[in-house]
Amino acid sequence: MSDKPAPDLRTLAIHAGEDPSEGLGEVAPSIAMSTSFRAHPDGVQFSAEALGEDSPFFYTRWGNPTVRQLEEKLAALDEGEDALCFASGMAAISALLLSRLKAGDHLVISDVCYAGVAELVHKSLPHYGISVSCVDTGNLQAVREALRPQTRLIYAETPANPILRLADIAGLAEIAKAAGVELAIDSTLATVVATRPLTLGANYVIHSLTKYVCGHGGDALGGVVIGREKAMAVLRQGPLIHLGGCISPFNAWLCLRSLHTLELRMRAHQENAFWVARFLEQHSRVARVLYPGLPSHPQHELARRQMANFSGMVSFSAADGASLARKLAEGLKTVSYAVSMGKSKTLVFYIPTDDLQESSFKLSPDALASYRDWTGEGCFRMSIGLESPEAIVGDLARVLDAA
Ligand SMILES: *Cc1c(COP(=O)(O)O)cnc(C)c1O
Repeated sequence: MSDKPAPDLRTLAIHAGEDPSEGLGEVAPSIAMSTSFRAHPDGVQFSAEALGEDSPFFYTRWGNPTVRQLEEKLAALDEGEDALCFASGMAAISALLLSRLKAGDHLVISDVCYAGVAELVHKSLPHYGISVSCVDTGNLQAVREALRPQTRLIYAETPANPILRLADIAGLAEIAKAAGVELAIDSTLATVVATRPLTLGANYVIHSLTKYVCGHGGDALGGVVIGREKAMAVLRQGPLIHLGGCISPFNAWLCLRSLHTLELRMRAHQENAFWVARFLEQHSRVARVLYPGLPSHPQHELARRQMANFSGMVSFSAADGASLARKLAEGLKTVSYAVSMGKSKTLVFYIPTDDLQESSFKLSPDALASYRDWTGEGCFRMSIGLESPEAIVGDLARVLDAA
């Protein structure tokens, strides 16, 4: 971690980007739904090229007052110079990759990550002449060996979906710096409450706002990239304005509001996740539990060093996973059998290893063997919500005891 004192996240999450001396003096932000703004004929230049730091709002795909408030808050929390919001996490990630990489460039990326990202790099990037090496970004030597003269970017997700494997951000930053390449970290599962990758040397941090940031009922999609002011200006003029994946002001407003409680929610998610992880670890129907907060996690030492909160994601494996998945889907009441994460509701979803390998990961035989070491034939990914821990564990116990 840097020598600077950690920012006061609880206060910043409420106050940053919400200066009541601006605008109409509202204490709570209002939503600016307008898609365009009154312009002066002398001041208007009808091209994104003319967009400067002090340009007035003009058209919402370029920038919007409510979205700007969210960007200021997110930049302050992650200690970035600036932030840029997008319509979804995938819009943020694809914008970053397409703006930093061009034909002939090479990307080094986690071989285990959000399936949408794995599919993007396997199926879409090669069309643009960008080559990709997928490696275990938890293994610094493997990352070093994957670098080529054409490498421009190292991209890691930590903890990585769905097995909660970690990457050592400071270690990756050292490698990136020595090689003169940039480092981007998808910090969606950790959140800013656990980890601030920019302070560890990353150039970009990405969050899917859809998850813990919006949290609550899980009612808005959004994404963000945070980094240096200049780089964010390039992202705004290029991919945001030209590819058009801007966030709706209404979704930005939901995220602004939800951020007020992020720190409190993450503490409760973590507390509940510990209950569930410990319960699962002693249950005879469960083969293995993966939770960065447990000493049994293979990278628990790194988790303690890098994560101030172990988050609310717990993964487990079990013999005859497909049949257990059916029983959980049919029998659970408090816990919902559904995808996604970071909501107030507890969710569980079974991801068979073979399916994920075929549709998304395309792991090398060695990497597939390593993935199976972590989670066997399939992974039950749980996003532990904010219900009482007794209710969550009781619901799981009822179904698991009978399974
Ligand atoms: C969900 C998720 C994404 C994609 O975000 P969307 O908002 O669904 O587009 C990217 N990375 C991680 C780690 C995620 O969990």
